[in-house]
Amino acid sequence: MDLSKDFSVKYWGLRGSIPSPGAHTVRYGGNTTSLEIRCGNQLFAIDGGTGVRLLGESLIGKGPVHATILMSHLHLDHVQGFPFFAPFLIPGNRFDIWSARHNGLGVADILRQLFNQPAFPISMDMLKAELNFCMLEPGDTLQVGDVKVRTAPLHHPGGAVGYRLEYGGRSLAHCSDWEHPAEGLDEALVELVRDADLLSVDATYTDDEYAGRTGPARRGWGHATHAAALAHADAAQVRNTLLFHHDPSRTDDQLDAIARTTLGHRRDVRFVAEGQVFQVGQPLMM
Ligand SMILES: [Zn+2]
Ligand SMILES: [Zn+2]
Repeated sequence: MDLSKDFSVKYWGLRGSIPSPGAHTVRYGGNTTSLEIRCGNQLFAIDGGTGVRLLGESLIGKGPVHATILMSHLHLDHVQGFPFFAPFLIPGNRFDIWSARHNGLGVADILRQLFNQPAFPISMDMLKAELNFCMLEPGDTLQVGDVKVRTAPLHHPGGAVGYRLEYGGRSLAHCSDWEHPAEGLDEALVELVRDADLLSVDATYTDDEYAGRTGPARRGWGHATHAAALAHADAAQVRNTLLFHHDPSRTDDQLDAIARTTLGHRRDVRFVAEGQVFQVGQPLMM
């Protein structure tokens, strides 16, 4: 493979809200959000959920790491892996970490809270890598080397940022955590992801869960239904879609059953599983 053309995403963590290890989540995975994105020789990551520990292990011993980390937002399930991200400890590594301001705070503020006695023995000044904290406003467009990064605000408590990376004529969008409107489409999201080659999108609830027919109504909790996620992907004419941010109580068998009933024979959509790698612009492997 010509690595200069590589545009891929690997899912080190995809579970919503809280890690959910155990016998019933082995196949889809229990780690919270961590994506690794390769654009040629440029490395991006999205979020620092518990999956980022595994991403860190994969980077050790392969030379200096220069990466751009894009934060969707700062909820615990998206930052709690950073204290165990070993590349932060290694001199010569460099990370540019982008976030919006959520409830008045950026990612640096949250990391200072995490790397803090007595909750954790390592403080920020013990990290040997170079960490550059960068602020964005949702709606900004960033140019990172050869990669154009578009952003948009997502409906979520405290706000979240959707990203669209464009590289080599292909595009990858990631929109989680996000709740769809009560009726109609979220036009800002549709605009961000329009014609994307690959979209990973929040798809946490069944319609029954969202409406409160099984347990409490989830409206206002900041996450989307499987049907709404698909409706938005279809409206935006996205080529391939990965349903993401699985509810922590959802078992492997339940995900399989929901996939059968909601996806049918569609080959352009799937519930993503931990460890999977996708080439942007190529069909989803079944
Ligand atoms: Zn989340
Ligand atoms: Zn969240």
